[in-house]
Amino acid sequence: MPLLTSDIDDAIRAAGLRVTESRRAVFDALRSHPHASADEIHAAVHPIVDSTLQSVYNALGDFAAAGLVRRIEPAGHPMLFELRVDDNHHHLVCTRCGAVEDVDCATGHAPCLVPGDTHGYRVAVAEVTYWGLCASCADEDS
Ligand SMILES: [Zn+2]
Ligand SMILES: [Zn+2]
Repeated sequence: MPLLTSDIDDAIRAAGLRVTESRRAVFDALRSHPHASADEIHAAVHPIVDSTLQSVYNALGDFAAAGLVRRIEPAGHPMLFELRVDDNHHHLVCTRCGAVEDVDCATGHAPCLVPGDTHGYRVAVAEVTYWGLCASCADEDS
């Protein structure tokens, strides 16, 4: 497993974090598993480094605090993590199989949607979840 790639280390260090084997493995798993839950990341990481689920949670928490990962929380799903941050993109979620896809921001910069009434808030981010059936689930119905 080519885990020792320097770009991973650079990204972790650029976020102000110390590079550890566990953080490096979690980061690598996030690259190949966008929108993964902590359990899924642990399953991906475990054969490579002998890390506990708790250490995966710790790494994800550190990454989130440092702005390296974004957490998304579709209702009824476990919290999901992704490396694509700061572009205010949205998500399509399949109500049947739980597949998650990225949807680009409608106007290319945050917030891409403005509420009808901001109640005086200065809106910085809009997070939209589109719910429906993914293509393969919709195919099963037809
Ligand atoms: Zn589906
Ligand atoms: Zn995403």
